[in-house]
Amino acid sequence: MKEIILLKQGEMVLKGLNRRGFEDKLMGNAKRRLKKYGSWRVYTRQSATYVEPLEDTCDFEGAWQAMQKLFGVAGLSRAKACEKDKDAIVACAKAYLADQLRAAKSFKVESKRADKSFPMTSIQLSQYVGSRLHQAFPHLKVDVHTPELTVYVEIRDYEAYVHAAPQEGAGGLPVGMGGRALSLLSGGIDSPVASWMIAKRGVIVDMIHFESYPYTSLEAREKVLDLARLLVPYTGKTCVHIVSFTKIQEQLRRACPEELFTILMRRFMMRIACRVAEENGIQALVTGESVGQVASQTLEAMACTNAVCTIPVLRPVVGMDKEEIVSISRKIGTFETSILPFEDCCTVFTPKHPRTRPKLEELLEAEQALDIQAMVDEAVGTIQRVILEL
Ligand code: ATP
Ligand code: MG
Repeated sequence: MKEIILLKQGEMVLKGLNRRGFEDKLMGNAKRRLKKYGSWRVYTRQSATYVEPLEDTCDFEGAWQAMQKLFGVAGLSRAKACEKDKDAIVACAKAYLADQLRAAKSFKVESKRADKSFPMTSIQLSQYVGSRLHQAFPHLKVDVHTPELTVYVEIRDYEAYVHAAPQEGAGGLPVGMGGRALSLLSGGIDSPVASWMIAKRGVIVDMIHFESYPYTSLEAREKVLDLARLLVPYTGKTCVHIVSFTKIQEQLRRACPEELFTILMRRFMMRIACRVAEENGIQALVTGESVGQVASQTLEAMACTNAVCTIPVLRPVVGMDKEEIVSISRKIGTFETSILPFEDCCTVFTPKHPRTRPKLEELLEAEQALDIQAMVDEAVGTIQRVILEL
């Protein structure tokens, strides 16, 4: 009999009246991701979402991997379908969970009946299946309080399902429930992690990248697009806006004090990002800044970059140590790409002694020499958009 995937909903089960909207979004996102793995049926009953292959040719492994990256899912398990008959259920559990039953020291069986016409109560069924499994695997102790292995049996409308405890899912909320943000994506370790964290909270994340071609290479751009591609299985469809930043950097270098260069440059990034957000109905920016990590990430510097922003700036890694950020980037699979040695636009003109505690007045004074509006307009005019989909 066929195998299916069971998704256990996360935090969204707390959503009360809104919950239906969250469930529908989760199912829609799941269906979109399953498309390339064949034809599937997706439905929700009692806060569990069922993912069933409709053809033998479905790529079950591919779907299983994809569902592990679906935000809104707290846990997921593979379940085996069998006939709605007590002995068929025992036989299915023995075969399907053999390795786990052999490895565990203690177990229990938990049954659920959606089909109330099934001739045994849940308790009777659990006892029956439990005693038969115990006979087959006599080393197992029955432990109803803290078993190492719980065997789940579900009696549904047309068939029964057997599965073991779920493994951890991606967590968070379904993407699309939390509005839209624009993430400033560099080629580093932090910003992909920051983008992932905000998408995890149900926000659609588009990206913006500033490049200094020809000071930075086409490979550097490709690296950033690769990072964005690695995030797509989590974020779903995203648009990467690529801004040519070279001219602004050259103008800043010509007209402004060197020690303020980094912070002035960051203010331009924020201005341009706010403009792109405004033009695309986006409600917040995201950066990978962490307090104290580098000169431009002091509280004073953040105040100076925030001062040009017209929408909220989300900094999900702001309180994290580098090691903590690295550990997430390894988990989500962006680390190896992030550490590839390509230059970033920020490293092209790094001042020898960047000011760590810039004062807003000095920056405003330095910016007097510039036609800010024209510089932003021109940079926005250079934008190339790359749409990335699953
Ligand atoms: P990251 O690891 O994300 O590159 P970082 O530690 O190198 O961060 P900075 O270079 O100071 O720190 O950048 C801080 C934040 O500014 C980044 O996390 C990112 O959100 C944004 N940023 C920096 N450079 C760029 C760029 N070239 N394009 C888009 N955003 C950028
Ligand atoms: Mg960087």
